[in-house]
Amino acid sequence: MRPEDIPIEELVAAAEESLSFDESAVFERWARDTLEDIRRRVRGPGADAYHTFVEAVFRDENDDPVEQAEIHRAWESHSRWCYQHRLIPTVLAPWGHGKSVQRVCLRVAFMLARNPSLRILVVTNTDANAKNRTRLVSSIMASDGFKKLFPDVEFSRPPTDYEIHLKRRGRAGDPSFTARTIFSKGVGARVDVIIVDDVSDLENSLLKPAERSKVGMSVKGATKSRLVPRKKERPGRRPPREWTGYTEQIGTRWHDEDWWGECLRSGAYCTLVLAMAQDNGRINCAVVGPADALESYPWAYQIIQRTFDPDEAPGPAPDDLPVLQRYESAKAIGTIPLWEEGGYDQEEMGRREVDDPRWHNCGRRQIPYSEGEQAFPHFGQCVHKVEPRITVPSGWYVTVGCDPGGTTRPGNAIAVIAGNDSERVFLEIRLGKWTGTELSEQLTEVFQRWNPDAVVVETNALQAYLVEIGMLAKAPWTSRVRPFHTGSNKMNPLEGVPALDIEFSHNAWSFPGLAWSGHPQGHEEQGCPWCVLRRAFVTTTRQDLRHHTDRVDTIMATWFAHRRLIQLCRYVGAVGFVGSDGSVEIDRYGNVTEEDVKRIRRQIEADDELTPKQVADRLASAVSGAPKSEWSQVVIDSLSEEIDDMMLDNSGGALLDDEDDW
Ligand SMILES: [Zn+2]
Repeated sequence: MRPEDIPIEELVAAAEESLSFDESAVFERWARDTLEDIRRRVRGPGADAYHTFVEAVFRDENDDPVEQAEIHRAWESHSRWCYQHRLIPTVLAPWGHGKSVQRVCLRVAFMLARNPSLRILVVTNTDANAKNRTRLVSSIMASDGFKKLFPDVEFSRPPTDYEIHLKRRGRAGDPSFTARTIFSKGVGARVDVIIVDDVSDLENSLLKPAERSKVGMSVKGATKSRLVPRKKERPGRRPPREWTGYTEQIGTRWHDEDWWGECLRSGAYCTLVLAMAQDNGRINCAVVGPADALESYPWAYQIIQRTFDPDEAPGPAPDDLPVLQRYESAKAIGTIPLWEEGGYDQEEMGRREVDDPRWHNCGRRQIPYSEGEQAFPHFGQCVHKVEPRITVPSGWYVTVGCDPGGTTRPGNAIAVIAGNDSERVFLEIRLGKWTGTELSEQLTEVFQRWNPDAVVVETNALQAYLVEIGMLAKAPWTSRVRPFHTGSNKMNPLEGVPALDIEFSHNAWSFPGLAWSGHPQGHEEQGCPWCVLRRAFVTTTRQDLRHHTDRVDTIMATWFAHRRLIQLCRYVGAVGFVGSDGSVEIDRYGNVTEEDVKRIRRQIEADDELTPKQVADRLASAVSGAPKSEWSQVVIDSLSEEIDDMMLDNSGGALLDDEDDW
């Protein structure tokens, strides 16, 4: 399991259970060190103290010691260099590289261990993250390893969700550690240190653009109102306490105009930008800050080895970093190795880039989304704090869109929406890499659950099979399967996929925001359908739409359903549904009149091949309005093999060649 996939709960549990400082079994290179040696090292000056601390107290989920990799060493060197130069250290690092655990939580525990009278505030994006940070810091400080290194550091009361109190002299009432969300209200006590931890996120940067500027205002507000000023060192006076009046920031970019963009443009900050190289084989480093200060900034290999000789030769030149072209006062400082221990080797990074190049660029190359790049910039305003619906308002139509994928895109997406002339509600999303059989089972479930007015299946071959078999069987669902041919209509601003955003901009849609509540960051990479859907609508560019990739399957399925919904709203009366072949007439709630029953019976009986029992079954399922057995039996029995072949076999023809239609 990759570190970024590990839920924070597991890390906390691992920390609680396994943090034990075994003098004989830490790292081999420490074999000669006694506990006293290590105690001395974690109290020493310089970055080595911190790195020793992390490696001595922290274990990963496999109970293995964590080794500080080059990237983590770079963060520490950067913040120390900035502290010396009275600049605010800011690090932009790739996703999943230990920002919150190895930088924020362990750094906080380390600072408090060395100086329990410090008051530290961590500002982060969500309430859940604020709690997680608090729990992780307190579990580190309660661990055996920590207690062996710092036996004098003790809690003065049990930690709460957001606060830790340590025994200390003076300021007994103030918490030693507080975690707050970026938008939490109220001014708290004064603090000595503020750590700004991943405050910009998908939600407040891309989903809700109006919140973007509030993030920066809130960070600046906290710094202004709560941080004690840093005292100047004066000859003959006692030096000010270490890290007092200190701010440090770490995060990943999302949008040009996010908080990090503001830091990159402002002279008070010195930003270390770590970006995956074009070949994914190393990490390019650049630093952005005041020009005069940057002259003496060390090279990348120096910041990881901590040999600051400004006359030394530079390391290998990095690729062109976008950040160098965008900001006047920026300097390329070389490259550092990938975090292979953390699971990020070149192959893995390459795979993730192929999966989703734009996402890779955003999260790992620090190339944020720019204004106008999102294909659906108004999606966020249609996400409301409501649970997914379980019923549909009376008088609304329900349509299902299905993107069956192909060999180049082995995913299938099913979207269910409902609406009337003026409103649309997103009901359900399903996503998987299914065979034809499984796909039809999924459609069956969807059909049973929502009794849709239309099932729109893209790709004519599959649709044709379904209708052909359905007509033979006179199954009522044939009237609900609709073909959808994608062609030049796709990018049509009025009818194409972009038209969805026009409706979003008029607040015509409602997406159930609570479908995402509690889902961790990166959930979409684990295949969560709701998170994949949200990410697709938030981050898809118009370029992505032209080149139909996996990531837009959910959007395409939504669009197919939407096209049919619009037709229904326009052309069909609210009392019933007329199939284009005129064969079946059923109202959408499954209630039919006696006349309907007679007509349906005549149609069914017209097929001489049927036994009376079959006629009765057909009639029953037609009249019930929920012909699930028809779906499953007909599709699975008659079609499964053929569909499986088509979906898995390259020779399947039209079904697989849908790329050509775009
Ligand atoms: Zn999710």
